[in-house]
Amino acid sequence: MPKDLSQTQWHGIARQEIPWFPAVDADKCIGCELCYVTCGREGYGTGPTSSTRP
Ligand code: SF4
Repeated sequence: MPKDLSQTQWHGIARQEIPWFPAVDADKCIGCELCYVTCGREGYGTGPTSSTRP
C-alpha cells in the first residue's frame, strides 16, 4: 500500500494547498498537443475522458 503523504508538506507547503494537476486555459490552447507529446510521464491524454483540450 502506498504511503499516505496527504498530511505532509512538500518543500514547506501543505500538500492540500497545492494544485497537483495542470490546468489548461481553453481560451489560449490551440490544440497542438505538444504537451501530450513531450510529457514523459504520460500525464496528458486525449480521448473520451478528456473534457477539454489537449
Ligand atoms: S495542446 Fe498543450 S501545448 Fe498545445 S497549446 Fe494546448 S496546452 Fe499548450
